[in-house]
Amino acid sequence: MKSANVNQRLTLLVMRDAQHAVKQIHLSKHLLMAIPAVAVLSLSGLVVAMQAHSSQVVSQLEQQVSVETLKNRQVQLTLSNREQSMERLQNEIINLSSQAKTMKLKMDTVDELEQQLKEFINKHNTTRVSGKASSQSINDSEHVGGEYIAVHDSDMLDLAKETKDDFQEMRKLLDEMQLKVPNTLEQAQETQIQISGTPTIWPTVSKVMTSSFGYRTDPFTGRAAFHAGIDIAGDEGGPVYAAGSGIVVTTEESGARGRYIIIEHPNGLQTWYMHLSRIEVSVGDSVDKGSKIARLGSTGRSTGPHLHFQVVKDDKPVNPLPYVK
Ligand SMILES: [Zn+2]
Repeated sequence: MKSANVNQRLTLLVMRDAQHAVKQIHLSKHLLMAIPAVAVLSLSGLVVAMQAHSSQVVSQLEQQVSVETLKNRQVQLTLSNREQSMERLQNEIINLSSQAKTMKLKMDTVDELEQQLKEFINKHNTTRVSGKASSQSINDSEHVGGEYIAVHDSDMLDLAKETKDDFQEMRKLLDEMQLKVPNTLEQAQETQIQISGTPTIWPTVSKVMTSSFGYRTDPFTGRAAFHAGIDIAGDEGGPVYAAGSGIVVTTEESGARGRYIIIEHPNGLQTWYMHLSRIEVSVGDSVDKGSKIARLGSTGRSTGPHLHFQVVKDDKPVNPLPYVK
């Protein structure tokens, strides 16, 4: 197919078949050398183009992959956010439920206290009796532990319902208490007044009793006479105390009683203090149990400094000793 000229030119003979004439193509040697170079150049061009294309494709793919990864991450984030929200919600329900339980226990305690208050009132106040019993024992366990048991949605729903019930029950309890407690407090205050109003305090510093309640020989006449109180010997000017809290109804002076005070207490009780050297309260004053009301003396029908102390119940003198012993 080809013949060569050793010099600068090369001749290519092209024979197609027997019918066609042989064609001669004259090529210069330089041209012949250029052909492979052109081929190599065009091949490398192709490779470069392919490389460029493939790197473009790769970068596109990479972009797609990174977009997908981002999307996946977002989905994961959203899912984990949702899980966190659910967990928070569950924890809140658990918290709320435990708060409801604690609150209910506290309210039960208040209810029980109110009951105790009523019992106290009933014990100390004979004039009023009321109230119905309701008590519940409190079991406060501080120490907690145990195995971990996973929580299901249905458990959460149950807990939420239970909590709602607890709150409703508390509301009912509160309503009841709102009605009961003021009444009980009023009774308690009344009882407190009765307790502090009942004469129980020994009215002088000295405990030396020189004459008791009842029939005796009169120190002035020597004849039998009724002594309506007790006589307590003491220092002239020593303090005289109110045996119970109450209202001062009399501060007077008479030949027999000397300077004297009458205090009125609840339940038809009065205390009388006689032969005082000085009166330190006025009619209408409200005095506390144990407060100083006068100074001991020997005014009136008296043989020496002493306090004649008398308790009057429903206008009749009674033995003071059961009150102030
Ligand atoms: Zn007396």
